[in-house]
Amino acid sequence: MPSHKINIGNVELVSLSDGNGDREPTFMFPDSSMEIWRAEFGELLDGAGHLHPRYGSVAVRSGGKLILVDTGLQAPGATLIDDMKAKGIDPGDIDLVVLTHLHPDHVGWNLTNGQPTFPNARYLAPRSDWEYWTQPAVLQGAEHVTNQVLPLDKLNILDLMDSDYQVTDELTTVSTPGHTPGHMSIMISSGGQRGYILGDVAHNPAQAHHTDWNPVFDIQPDLSRQTRHQVLDHLEAEEITVSAGHFPDPGFGKFVRQGGRRVWQGI
Ligand SMILES: [Zn+2]
Repeated sequence: MPSHKINIGNVELVSLSDGNGDREPTFMFPDSSMEIWRAEFGELLDGAGHLHPRYGSVAVRSGGKLILVDTGLQAPGATLIDDMKAKGIDPGDIDLVVLTHLHPDHVGWNLTNGQPTFPNARYLAPRSDWEYWTQPAVLQGAEHVTNQVLPLDKLNILDLMDSDYQVTDELTTVSTPGHTPGHMSIMISSGGQRGYILGDVAHNPAQAHHTDWNPVFDIQPDLSRQTRHQVLDHLEAEEITVSAGHFPDPGFGKFVRQGGRRVWQGI
Protein backbone atom coordinates (compact mmCIF):
# COMPACT_ATOMS: atom_id res chain seq x y z
CA MET A 1 0.00 0.00 0.00
CA PRO A 2 1.41 3.44 -0.87
CA SER A 3 2.52 5.54 2.08
CA HIS A 4 0.50 8.55 3.18
CA LYS A 5 3.64 10.15 4.55
CA ILE A 6 6.70 11.34 2.62
CA ASN A 7 9.64 13.60 3.38
CA ILE A 8 11.16 16.31 1.20
CA GLY A 9 14.41 17.07 3.04
CA ASN A 10 13.29 18.12 6.53
CA VAL A 11 9.68 18.72 5.46
CA GLU A 12 7.10 16.02 6.19
CA LEU A 13 3.94 15.68 4.09
CA VAL A 14 0.90 13.68 5.23
CA SER A 15 -1.76 13.07 2.59
CA LEU A 16 -5.36 13.53 3.78
CA SER A 17 -8.68 12.94 2.05
CA ASP A 18 -12.16 14.37 2.49
CA GLY A 19 -13.79 11.69 0.32
CA ASN A 20 -14.28 11.37 -3.42
CA GLY A 21 -16.57 12.84 -6.04
CA ASP A 22 -18.40 11.03 -8.84
CA ARG A 23 -18.10 12.59 -12.29
CA GLU A 24 -18.56 11.69 -15.92
CA PRO A 25 -15.12 12.14 -17.51
CA THR A 26 -16.44 14.03 -20.54
CA PHE A 27 -18.40 16.39 -18.28
CA MET A 28 -15.30 17.09 -16.24
CA PHE A 29 -13.02 17.38 -19.29
CA PRO A 30 -15.16 18.56 -22.25
CA ASP A 31 -12.17 18.23 -24.63
CA SER A 32 -11.77 14.51 -23.84
CA SER A 33 -13.58 11.49 -25.29
CA MET A 34 -14.76 8.23 -23.70
CA GLU A 35 -12.78 6.33 -26.36
CA ILE A 36 -9.53 7.80 -25.06
CA TRP A 37 -10.54 7.34 -21.41
CA ARG A 38 -11.37 3.67 -21.96
CA ALA A 39 -8.34 2.96 -24.15
CA GLU A 40 -5.73 4.74 -22.04
CA PHE A 41 -7.05 5.20 -18.50
CA GLY A 42 -9.46 2.35 -17.87
CA GLU A 43 -7.96 1.84 -14.40
CA LEU A 44 -9.24 5.29 -13.36
CA LEU A 45 -12.88 4.50 -14.29
CA ASP A 46 -15.52 2.58 -12.36
CA GLY A 47 -17.91 0.08 -13.97
CA ALA A 48 -20.16 2.89 -15.19
CA GLY A 49 -17.20 4.74 -16.72
CA HIS A 50 -17.15 7.45 -14.04
CA LEU A 51 -14.19 9.14 -12.37
CA HIS A 52 -13.97 9.49 -8.59
CA PRO A 53 -11.74 12.52 -8.02
CA ARG A 54 -10.37 12.68 -4.50
CA TYR A 55 -10.88 15.75 -2.34
CA GLY A 56 -7.32 15.79 -1.06
CA SER A 57 -5.54 17.96 1.47
CA VAL A 58 -2.00 17.70 2.73
CA ALA A 59 -0.61 18.39 6.20
CA VAL A 60 2.91 19.80 6.10
CA ARG A 61 5.41 19.95 8.96
CA SER A 62 7.98 22.65 8.23
CA GLY A 63 10.05 24.99 10.38
CA GLY A 64 8.31 23.90 13.57
CA LYS A 65 4.87 24.67 12.12
CA LEU A 66 2.03 22.35 11.20
CA ILE A 67 0.35 23.59 8.04
CA LEU A 68 -2.81 22.30 6.38
CA VAL A 69 -3.06 22.94 2.64
CA ASP A 70 -6.72 23.08 1.52
CA THR A 71 -9.70 21.98 3.58
CA GLY A 72 -11.86 19.73 1.38
CA LEU A 73 -15.58 20.04 0.62
CA GLN A 74 -17.32 19.07 3.89
CA ALA A 75 -20.03 17.24 1.93
CA PRO A 76 -22.27 14.79 3.84
CA GLY A 77 -20.06 11.87 4.91
CA ALA A 78 -16.89 13.94 4.52
CA THR A 79 -13.83 12.32 6.05
CA LEU A 80 -11.15 15.00 6.48
CA ILE A 81 -11.27 15.40 10.25
CA ASP A 82 -11.56 11.65 10.93
CA ASP A 83 -8.72 11.04 8.48
CA MET A 84 -6.53 13.63 10.23
CA LYS A 85 -7.14 12.04 13.60
CA ALA A 86 -6.49 8.54 12.23
CA LYS A 87 -3.13 9.80 10.93
CA GLY A 88 -2.17 11.38 14.26
CA ILE A 89 -2.99 15.01 13.46
CA ASP A 90 -5.10 17.01 15.92
CA PRO A 91 -7.07 19.86 14.28
CA GLY A 92 -6.13 21.98 17.31
CA ASP A 93 -2.45 21.62 16.44
CA ILE A 94 -2.75 23.24 13.00
CA ASP A 95 -0.85 26.57 13.01
CA LEU A 96 -1.64 27.67 9.48
CA VAL A 97 -4.24 26.80 6.86
CA VAL A 98 -3.10 27.65 3.33
CA LEU A 99 -5.79 27.75 0.64
CA THR A 100 -4.52 27.22 -2.91
CA HIS A 101 -7.69 28.85 -4.25
CA LEU A 102 -11.24 29.59 -3.18
CA HIS A 103 -13.24 26.79 -4.81
CA PRO A 104 -15.84 24.96 -2.66
CA ASP A 105 -13.84 21.72 -2.50
CA HIS A 106 -10.78 23.53 -1.10
CA VAL A 107 -12.39 25.66 1.63
CA GLY A 108 -15.08 23.29 2.90
CA TRP A 109 -13.78 22.70 6.44
CA ASN A 110 -12.57 26.24 7.14
CA LEU A 111 -15.43 26.55 9.60
CA THR A 112 -17.77 24.08 11.25
CA ASN A 113 -21.10 25.48 12.48
CA GLY A 114 -19.67 28.98 12.12
CA GLN A 115 -16.58 28.31 14.26
CA PRO A 116 -13.04 27.79 12.91
CA THR A 117 -12.48 24.05 12.53
CA PHE A 118 -8.80 24.69 13.30
CA PRO A 119 -9.14 26.91 16.36
CA ASN A 120 -5.47 27.82 16.74
CA ALA A 121 -4.74 28.49 13.07
CA ARG A 122 -4.40 31.57 10.95
CA TYR A 123 -5.73 31.14 7.43
CA LEU A 124 -3.93 32.26 4.26
CA ALA A 125 -5.68 32.86 0.93
CA PRO A 126 -4.36 34.20 -2.39
CA ARG A 127 -5.02 37.93 -2.60
CA SER A 128 -6.09 37.80 -6.28
CA ASP A 129 -8.62 35.07 -5.53
CA TRP A 130 -10.00 37.08 -2.60
CA GLU A 131 -10.34 40.11 -4.91
CA TYR A 132 -12.07 38.02 -7.59
CA TRP A 133 -14.50 36.12 -5.37
CA THR A 134 -15.54 39.10 -3.24
CA GLN A 135 -16.73 41.13 -6.25
CA PRO A 136 -20.48 41.55 -5.60
CA ALA A 137 -21.53 39.90 -8.88
CA VAL A 138 -19.29 36.85 -8.25
CA LEU A 139 -20.05 36.61 -4.54
CA GLN A 140 -23.76 36.44 -5.25
CA GLY A 141 -23.27 32.99 -6.83
CA ALA A 142 -20.59 31.80 -4.40
CA GLU A 143 -22.32 30.64 -1.24
CA HIS A 144 -19.17 28.75 -0.23
CA VAL A 145 -17.24 32.03 -0.04
CA THR A 146 -19.98 33.65 2.02
CA ASN A 147 -20.09 30.67 4.38
CA GLN A 148 -16.48 29.46 4.51
CA VAL A 149 -14.24 32.44 3.67
CA LEU A 150 -15.83 35.78 4.62
CA PRO A 151 -16.28 34.77 8.29
CA LEU A 152 -12.51 34.25 8.56
CA ASP A 153 -12.03 37.91 7.69
CA LYS A 154 -14.64 38.98 10.24
CA LEU A 155 -12.90 36.87 12.89
CA ASN A 156 -9.57 38.52 11.97
CA ILE A 157 -7.88 35.21 11.29
CA LEU A 158 -7.46 35.59 7.52
CA ASP A 159 -4.27 36.85 5.85
CA LEU A 160 -3.85 37.40 2.11
CA MET A 161 -0.76 36.22 0.24
CA ASP A 162 0.88 37.04 -3.06
CA SER A 163 3.23 35.01 -5.25
CA ASP A 164 6.62 34.27 -3.67
CA TYR A 165 5.12 34.48 -0.19
CA GLN A 166 7.31 32.60 2.31
CA VAL A 167 4.95 30.39 4.30
CA THR A 168 8.06 29.09 6.08
CA ASP A 169 11.75 29.18 5.10
CA GLU A 170 11.09 25.95 3.15
CA LEU A 171 7.68 26.69 1.57
CA THR A 172 7.12 29.41 -1.04
CA THR A 173 3.91 30.20 -2.92
CA VAL A 174 3.99 30.20 -6.73
CA SER A 175 1.36 32.01 -8.77
CA THR A 176 -0.29 29.44 -11.10
CA PRO A 177 -3.34 31.31 -12.43
CA GLY A 178 -6.13 30.26 -14.76
CA HIS A 179 -8.05 27.58 -12.90
CA THR A 180 -8.99 30.56 -10.73
CA PRO A 181 -7.50 34.04 -11.18
CA GLY A 182 -5.40 33.85 -8.02
CA HIS A 183 -4.64 30.12 -7.93
CA MET A 184 -1.39 29.26 -6.14
CA SER A 185 0.84 26.24 -5.83
CA ILE A 186 3.54 25.76 -3.21
CA MET A 187 7.20 25.01 -3.87
CA ILE A 188 9.03 23.05 -1.17
CA SER A 189 12.79 23.31 -0.90
CA SER A 190 14.61 21.59 1.94
CA GLY A 191 17.89 19.77 2.44
CA GLY A 192 18.69 19.86 -1.28
CA GLN A 193 15.36 18.27 -2.21
CA ARG A 194 12.35 19.83 -3.87
CA GLY A 195 8.64 19.16 -3.80
CA TYR A 196 5.56 20.85 -5.20
CA ILE A 197 1.99 21.08 -3.96
CA LEU A 198 0.08 21.30 -7.22
CA GLY A 199 -3.36 22.53 -6.19
CA ASP A 200 -5.70 22.37 -9.20
CA VAL A 201 -3.12 22.96 -11.92
CA ALA A 202 -4.10 19.38 -12.88
CA HIS A 203 -7.06 17.30 -11.70
CA ASN A 204 -6.31 13.90 -13.17
CA PRO A 205 -3.27 11.79 -14.15
CA ALA A 206 -4.59 11.77 -17.74
CA GLN A 207 -3.52 15.41 -18.01
CA ALA A 208 0.14 14.35 -17.78
CA HIS A 209 -0.15 13.46 -21.48
CA HIS A 210 -3.38 15.25 -22.43
CA THR A 211 -2.11 18.49 -20.95
CA ASP A 212 -4.49 20.55 -23.11
CA TRP A 213 -7.56 19.03 -21.42
CA ASN A 214 -9.10 21.74 -19.28
CA PRO A 215 -11.53 20.86 -16.53
CA VAL A 216 -14.96 22.45 -16.89
CA PHE A 217 -14.30 24.37 -13.65
CA ASP A 218 -11.55 26.61 -15.06
CA ILE A 219 -12.39 30.31 -14.87
CA GLN A 220 -9.75 31.42 -17.43
CA PRO A 221 -9.36 28.33 -19.67
CA ASP A 222 -6.62 29.63 -21.99
CA LEU A 223 -4.49 30.82 -19.09
CA SER A 224 -5.13 27.60 -17.18
CA ARG A 225 -3.92 25.52 -20.15
CA GLN A 226 -0.81 27.67 -20.53
CA THR A 227 -0.05 27.42 -16.78
CA ARG A 228 -0.55 23.64 -16.83
CA HIS A 229 1.91 23.18 -19.69
CA GLN A 230 4.51 25.38 -18.04
CA VAL A 231 4.19 23.78 -14.62
CA LEU A 232 4.10 20.14 -15.77
CA ASP A 233 7.02 20.72 -18.18
CA HIS A 234 9.02 22.15 -15.28
CA LEU A 235 8.07 19.41 -12.80
CA GLU A 236 8.97 16.73 -15.37
CA ALA A 237 12.29 18.33 -16.38
CA GLU A 238 13.40 18.84 -12.77
CA GLU A 239 12.04 15.47 -11.54
CA ILE A 240 10.27 17.21 -8.66
CA THR A 241 8.12 15.19 -6.24
CA VAL A 242 4.50 16.34 -6.45
CA SER A 243 1.52 16.28 -4.10
CA ALA A 244 -1.66 16.34 -6.24
CA GLY A 245 -4.89 16.71 -4.26
CA HIS A 246 -7.38 15.36 -6.79
CA PHE A 247 -5.18 12.46 -7.99
CA PRO A 248 -5.74 8.93 -6.66
CA ASP A 249 -4.83 8.44 -2.99
CA PRO A 250 -2.30 9.40 -1.65
CA GLY A 251 -1.54 11.73 -4.59
CA PHE A 252 2.26 11.69 -4.27
CA GLY A 253 4.35 11.06 -7.39
CA LYS A 254 6.29 12.47 -10.31
CA PHE A 255 5.61 13.40 -13.90
CA VAL A 256 7.96 11.23 -15.95
CA ARG A 257 8.52 10.33 -19.60
CA GLN A 258 7.73 6.76 -20.64
CA GLY A 259 7.59 5.57 -24.25
CA GLY A 260 7.45 9.11 -25.59
CA ARG A 261 4.56 10.15 -23.36
CA ARG A 262 4.49 12.05 -20.12
CA VAL A 263 2.82 9.93 -17.44
CA TRP A 264 2.03 10.26 -13.75
CA GLN A 265 4.07 7.84 -11.68
CA GLY A 266 2.52 7.54 -8.24
CA ILE A 267 4.72 6.71 -5.25
ZN1 LIG B 1 -10.57 24.08 -8.03
